[in-house]
Amino acid sequence: MSKRDYYEVLQVAQGTDEQDIKSAYRKLALKYHPDRNPGDHAAEEKFKEAAEAYSVLADPQKRGIYDRFGHAGLDASPNSSNIDPTVFSGFDDILGGLGDIFGFGDVFGGGRRRGPQRGADLRYNLKISFDDAVAGKEMKLQIPRDETCEQCSGSGAASGTQPDTCPKCKGRGQIHYQQGFLTVARTCGHCRGAGRVITKPCQVCQGRGQTSRERKLTFQIPSGIDTGEAIILTGEGEFGDQGAPPGDLQVVVHVNEHPFFIREGAHLFCQVPVDYPTMVLGGTVKVPTLNGDTEVIIPRATKSGARLRVRGKGMPDVNGGSPGDLVLTVQIVTPDKLTKEQRSLIEKLSKTMVKQKVKPIAKENLGSDRPLYDRVKDIFG
Ligand SMILES: [Zn+2]
Ligand SMILES: [Zn+2]
Repeated sequence: MSKRDYYEVLQVAQGTDEQDIKSAYRKLALKYHPDRNPGDHAAEEKFKEAAEAYSVLADPQKRGIYDRFGHAGLDASPNSSNIDPTVFSGFDDILGGLGDIFGFGDVFGGGRRRGPQRGADLRYNLKISFDDAVAGKEMKLQIPRDETCEQCSGSGAASGTQPDTCPKCKGRGQIHYQQGFLTVARTCGHCRGAGRVITKPCQVCQGRGQTSRERKLTFQIPSGIDTGEAIILTGEGEFGDQGAPPGDLQVVVHVNEHPFFIREGAHLFCQVPVDYPTMVLGGTVKVPTLNGDTEVIIPRATKSGARLRVRGKGMPDVNGGSPGDLVLTVQIVTPDKLTKEQRSLIEKLSKTMVKQKVKPIAKENLGSDRPLYDRVKDIFG
């Protein structure tokens, strides 16, 4: 079988730059990866073909030879039958961190010998009250995390003993074998890639090298935080390999709803009932805000459903900027009960009103799909 042109394999033009070659390869590698196409031999072949093409085109020297002499040029150079494992050292980077999810570690075990691994990030979901989101708060949390076992200093071996070199892989952590033109390295199953096996495990951690410990953390919830925002506590995640930093703890905040304020970013919305005379003649009403009541002017001839903006009375800005606005939707209230006097006054009023034909309100004056805040008319403020 004759080899396909590498540029054709990656579906790129000959002069394509490094970045585009990388992204073309990434697309193919994800599409044809064996973990995504279990048992599909054709996909596996395509995957290997793309990997081979990439190993050449991503290497300026090899690419130069290939551009001048084609496949024949590469066959003449040493080590041409194996994929250069160093090509895959940046594999996580190419796949945008998906490498582990798709198990590239096993397929390209040979190329992924990395330094000590940083600890895993931990995520903690924290519910807070609306008031705490407004004012900010100092929080205390107690979080369990795995830390290096003090008894064995992380080796996992009982005191006075040392882990033995793995007899299966001779301490390499990987077993290599030839598969077509590829040298495939798989993580050693006996030692799970560690290269060493523990014969007498540590009593405290049962050979894990880590023990779970409760950690007390104190941190500040910033005023103005919103649901979905996270506070990152650097270095408070799980311990990494020896010599590598721990991961981070991400405290993801969920703010409870307020009984009547609806939040949209930094702006707050609420409905305010106003009586008919005030809507018609204008006047003032007292409305609640996050810091006490405030008096709001209702302009003359205000329509039910009109929105009034009170600047700066919304949520505080989480980054210390200016606060959002409070937007009031005024609704006319119809009283359930009337005094005799009120009833007779309204009857008198009614008699003075010309009976009008009802005209429906035009559609564009009703709501729309736009966010609430965009629909606010700046009536005052
Ligand atoms: Zn231990
Ligand atoms: Zn082994």
